[in-house]
Parts: sequence; structure tokens; C-alpha cells
Amino acid sequence: LVSRGNHPDRSTVTVRGVPIGPDTVTLIAGPCAVETPQQTLEAATMAKAAGATLLRGGAYKPRTSPYAFQGLGEAGLRILADVREETGLPIVTEVVDAHDVALVASYADMLQVGTRNAQNFALLQAVGAAGRPVMLKRGMTATIEEWLMAAEYIAQRGNLDIVLCERGIRTYETATRNTLDISAVPVVQRLSHLPVIVDPSHSGGRRDLVLPLTRAAIAIGADGLIIDVHPNPDQALCDGPQALVDGDLAELAAVMRDFPALV
Ligand code: PEP
Repeated sequence: LVSRGNHPDRSTVTVRGVPIGPDTVTLIAGPCAVETPQQTLEAATMAKAAGATLLRGGAYKPRTSPYAFQGLGEAGLRILADVREETGLPIVTEVVDAHDVALVASYADMLQVGTRNAQNFALLQAVGAAGRPVMLKRGMTATIEEWLMAAEYIAQRGNLDIVLCERGIRTYETATRNTLDISAVPVVQRLSHLPVIVDPSHSGGRRDLVLPLTRAAIAIGADGLIIDVHPNPDQALCDGPQALVDGDLAELAAVMRDFPALV
């Protein structure tokens, strides 16, 4: 269902009126985690100023350590809904458990499945039946074939509104958190009709790499980006070191604005 064999034209997925597909480079930005109403609103305002048309933010956080901040749960979803009201930005947010899909879908405009759940087949089937577009991150140890088969689980439930997100894979390299597999973008675009976006924040894990990786993603033809921003990353409860700050936004906005010149 996701293969390009049966759909020669590349697809556009529309999230509450915002297109993600071959004719544009869509910026999704916001905080890694929803922490407070003020932090989320400030991050959303920063995101919008940089050109974002969709707001990211995790209310359910899949953390490696059980002692790390796990997210605010439904209270976080309510904050996102309030910030959507205030800024007009539709919401992209992660769901980590099949039992929570209906609840998260009742707030979210797009459901995110993260790298750690990329082969959680019960979750993939549940999001496939939820009636919302889905952003499926690549499992950090998934081959492209495994990633596309994960998408097939969603599609099989009748949902073809799937956006694939390359977010870095685990390699022997330790200088970056994960290795952004930039070649996956054109490889997947040739194999599948689904849009492919890039997450330069979670792949590098470092603020100084976000803009260079963003340029690389746009230059290679990615259909969008998902980027962490935070008003005060030193105080962030999750992934502060990779979040862009106010001072980075003008450059991000310029990169987004000038994207046709790069391709
Ligand atoms: C995220 O985008 O919040 C996230 C946890 O990303 P990943 O699943 O790619 O680690």
C-alpha cells in the first residue's frame, strides 16, 4: 500500500489544512516536551516566527530512563489544545501506548509514533484506525525495508495519511547521538509515495548541528522538518541541549524561506 509501484505520484498528506508533500518543505517545530502552559506557548510563538505551520510537543514521553520526566499526559494534551487555539498551529504529538490512541487522537491533529515504538505493531494498527494522519519515525535500528513495513501496518488499517520521518540511526559513531541517514530520504522517496521528513534535533542531539542538518535535509529534497525549540533550554525537562533558542530562529527562518534556492 505504501509502495510507489502502485502509486507512481508522490502523495501529499494534509494535516488540518497544512500540506506535507512534494511541493513544499513543511516546518513542524515546538518543544520536545510540553512542560507548562507558558513554556509551550512561548515555544509555539518561536516556532511560528521561524516559519512553522505545525506545532510539535510531547505529552507522553518515551524516555530511556524510567526516572526521567515522562510527560504530563492528558494535562499536556490540554495545554497543546489551548496553544493551538491561541496560535492557530495544528498539533503533532506522540502516542506511546495503544490504549491511549483514542484519547490522544481526540486532541491531536497528527499522531506521532516514535523511534522506540516504530515496530510496536499493536500501536501501529491502533493509530492506523484512529482517523488522524500519522507521522512514523524510523526505528533507530530499523532498515528501510522494516520502516516501510511498519508503515504498511498503519496503511493496512485504511489510513494512507502517513508521513515518514528519518530521525537518525544507531551506528558505532558516538560524536552524535544518532547518525542522520540522509541518503534514506531519496531512497525512501523512490520506494514509497509517502512524504519523507527529517528530524535534525533528535538525530544529532546537539543544537549546533540542527541548522547544518536542516540545510542538508532541504538540499536532498526532504518534504519537511521537525525541529525542537525551547524558550529556556537550560531548564528543559527533556533534551534541552538540542533545542534551538531565540537567537537561532532568524537563521532557521532564512533557511526555510530560501529553500527553493538550495534544491
Ligand atoms: C520526539 O520527537 O519527541 C522523540 C522522542 O523522537 P524520537 O522518537 O525520534 O527519539
